[in-house]
Amino acid sequence: MKLLEYEAKKVFSTFGIAVPESVLITSAREASAACHKVGGSAVLKAQVDVGGRGKAGGILMATADDAEAVATELFQKEIKGLPVKEVLVEERLPIQKEYFVSIAIDRSTRSPVILFAEAGGVEIEATAGERLDAVRSAHVSPLLSEVPGFILRYLTRGCEKEIMPVISALYRAFREKDALLAEINPLVITPSGVLAADAKLIIDDNALARQGISVNRDLTDREAEAEAHGFSYVELNGSIGVIGNGAGLTMATLDLIAHHNGAAANFLDVGGGAGSDRVMHAVRLVASVPAVKVIVVNLLGGITRCDEVARGIIAAGVSQQVIVRLAGTNEAEGRALLEGAGYRMLDTMEDAVATAVLEASS
Ligand code: GDP
Ligand code: MN
Repeated sequence: MKLLEYEAKKVFSTFGIAVPESVLITSAREASAACHKVGGSAVLKAQVDVGGRGKAGGILMATADDAEAVATELFQKEIKGLPVKEVLVEERLPIQKEYFVSIAIDRSTRSPVILFAEAGGVEIEATAGERLDAVRSAHVSPLLSEVPGFILRYLTRGCEKEIMPVISALYRAFREKDALLAEINPLVITPSGVLAADAKLIIDDNALARQGISVNRDLTDREAEAEAHGFSYVELNGSIGVIGNGAGLTMATLDLIAHHNGAAANFLDVGGGAGSDRVMHAVRLVASVPAVKVIVVNLLGGITRCDEVARGIIAAGVSQQVIVRLAGTNEAEGRALLEGAGYRMLDTMEDAVATAVLEASS
């Protein structure tokens, strides 16, 4: 789950990273007072979780005199499609230099990787693309709870030595908060020290409970419903809804759809031993995606019973065509129920997928 800038800054500051003075506001009326509070000259920052916010017009300068007007303008904007509900009014910093520091998980090495660049700021992606030497990187063994000194020195070679403790603190925050990403861009040098002028923190969804976060705000309504039912669910861009049991069989169904030049609308694994109720919820969930034209249910009956699955499909009673492939326990009963209710049950997953692709394209 992504934290907003002001939330990430709160976390970073508890780890000892200096952040600018700020006030969070939810209406333009509060802007002028907030501006005064941070010293009269401020930066108004839209709290939306998109990259490139500054370039998209989400960062505006203001003084106490024009803060209300500037805030009104910001609250009326959409930044990359997202409405602005909160604005961080932050003291304007006399920036001398901007650095970039980011810690993420490198899945290929199964370890955290720290990136550091002397040319931080809103152009970091372009800079990193053009000048490969602009970004230094170092992997840290996941067994270590601190960044070793030689790595800090390598990353920040030639830069202010005050940056090293910031990277150490960011690494501690990254570990303790179960983060997938902890980033400061820009990390700024001012006459009064080093500050995090921006902050990004993404918490691993699998660690939300441990982090005391009960609601994952990043989930769509359908994803939240899927989570509540315990389905593994991912939305894709196609028009063929997919329901399977077991990640392997469900993935194989997606592969087969792609092989037939079709496009799946989702991945949904109902898990083992699904009863009719679970199947009904799964079918209704997938059917509620507007783009879904046809649904393939591909289930193997082991501890899952085919007659239960058939009852669930029939109970769902969705408007889209449901093409079924069932094999295994109580297969004959399942088939009889489905055929009695007018559903198509095919013998192989190849046939089921080929039929679904044909139906979706017609
Ligand atoms: P992002 O576009 O979402 O990454 O937004 P940032 O918070 O990183 O801000 C974008 C840019 O605005 C920064 O790279 C800075 O150059 C500039 N900026 C942000 N805060 C200040 C500030 O307090 N003073 C000055 N002079 N510039 C700022
Ligand atoms: Mn930034």
